[in-house]
Amino acid sequence: SSISPKSFEATQFKPTPNNLEAFFMPFTSNRHFKANPRLFVKAEGMHFTNIDGKQVLDATAGLWCVNAGHGRREISEAVSHQIQELDYSPPFQMGHPAAFELASRVAALAPTGLDHVFFTNSGSESVDTALKIALAYQRAKGQGTRTRLIGRERGYHGVGFGGISVGGMVNNRKWFGTALGGIDHLPHTYNAKEMAYSKGQPAWGAHLADDLERLVALHDASSIAAVIVEPVAGSTGVLIPPKGYLEKLREICTKHGILLIFDEVICGFGRLGTNFGADYFGVTPDLITCAKGLTNGAIPMGGVIVSKQIYDTFMETSAENAIELFHGYTYSAHPVACAAGLAVLDIYKNEGLFDRVKEITPYWENAIHSLKGTRHVIDLRNIGLIGAIELESRPGKPGARAMDAFLKAYEKGMLIRVTGDIIAMSPPFIVEKSHVDQAVSILADVLKSID
Ligand code: PLP
Repeated sequence: SSISPKSFEATQFKPTPNNLEAFFMPFTSNRHFKANPRLFVKAEGMHFTNIDGKQVLDATAGLWCVNAGHGRREISEAVSHQIQELDYSPPFQMGHPAAFELASRVAALAPTGLDHVFFTNSGSESVDTALKIALAYQRAKGQGTRTRLIGRERGYHGVGFGGISVGGMVNNRKWFGTALGGIDHLPHTYNAKEMAYSKGQPAWGAHLADDLERLVALHDASSIAAVIVEPVAGSTGVLIPPKGYLEKLREICTKHGILLIFDEVICGFGRLGTNFGADYFGVTPDLITCAKGLTNGAIPMGGVIVSKQIYDTFMETSAENAIELFHGYTYSAHPVACAAGLAVLDIYKNEGLFDRVKEITPYWENAIHSLKGTRHVIDLRNIGLIGAIELESRPGKPGARAMDAFLKAYEKGMLIRVTGDIIAMSPPFIVEKSHVDQAVSILADVLKSID
C-alpha cells in the first residue's frame, strides 16, 4: 500500500516577508535574502530547479558535497528502506550492522594504517572530535602536557568552538569571545606574487611548513598535541598546497611526536580524483576528518578516521570494561545516515566516479584558465575538480564584487560559491564537458556585466 507522505508541498509555498521571517538563516544576509529570496524546490543530476521552475546549473555540488550528482534513487531507496527497518538505534553501548559495515568500507578506502572510524553528523563535529581524540590520545599515552593545538591562517574547520579556534577566518572568530586557549597558527600558503595563475600545485612555498619548527622552538614539542590543516583549503578561497609543503609538515610532526590531522571534509571522497587528498599528495596523516561526500550531502554525516596506533592506544591503556573515549553524539552512526553512506560508496565505485574526476581534470583546468584576461580576474587556480577565480576587490568594499557575481550567475541559471572576492567552483563528478563549457561561458558573461 502506498503511504501518503506529503505534509508539505514545496512548489505551493508562496514566499512572503511574513513566512520567511521565522527561519534565522546560517551564513546568509537574512535581510537581503528575505527581500529577494532564492528557493530551490527540486534537484536532479547537475541541476537544481528553483521555485519559479527555472533550471540552475550546480557548479558547486551544493556545498562541495553532492559529488555523485543530485536525485540519486539508490540513496533515497536505501534511506527509505532503512527508516522502515530500523529508524534509530542508540549508539552508546548498542550497535547496528550498517555502522560496522560503513566503518569497514570507509577504512578500506582510507590510506593504509588509518583503520578506525568514529562517526559524527557534520564536518564541524568531525573537527571537534578529531581535536578531542588527539588530546585524549596524548594523555592516554602519558603525554598529558601536550595540550596545544596548531591550525593555520585562513584555515576553515567548521564552526564548533574547536574548529573556530584552530581556524583562521577572522569573521568566524571575532564575534564569539576568546575561543580555546593554547592555540597557534601557521601561516597560510597563498602568495599572489609567487603563484598567481598556477595550475595544480604551485612550485613555490614548501618552506612555509618550516614555521612549525618555529612554534616547536617557541612552545616546546612537549606542549603540542596536534597540527590540523586542510590538504586544499577550500572555504577560504581554494589555497592549494605548494609542492613539498605537506611532506614537510608530516616530517616535522613525526620528528616531534605531534599528530597531523588532515581536514578532508572537502577533499575526501574523490574531489581530487583519489579516495582522499592524502592519497593525491602521497602524505599520510594520523587522523582524517570527513563529511559532505560521505553521504553525497543527502543525509548529514561525518567521520573521523584514525590510525591503528591511536585506536590501539585507547584500547590498551584503558581499564578493563571502561569506556575508552568519553565522546559521542545521539546521532553518531545514525542508521539512516549509514544506509545513505553505503549506497553512496556503491555509486562511487560502480560508476568509477573518482576516475572520472581524474579524466576530466585536464579539461577543467584549461576551462578555468581560459578566463585569464577576463574583466576583474586577478588569479585563477585549480586542482582536481576544484577551480578558483579571484577577482580584484572594489576599493573599500571587499567581497562586494564577488557577491554581485554570485547574484548575477544565479540570475543566469548557475550556482557558484563565493568567499571574499574569490569564486569557487566544484561541480559534481558526473559533470560533462558541455557543462564545463557552459559554466565558464556564463561566468565570463557575468564578469563582463558587473562593475
Ligand atoms: N572542515 C572543512 C575543511 C570544511 O570545508 C567544512 C565545510 O565546508 C567544515 C569543516 C565544516 O563542515 P560542516 O559545515 O558540515 O560542519
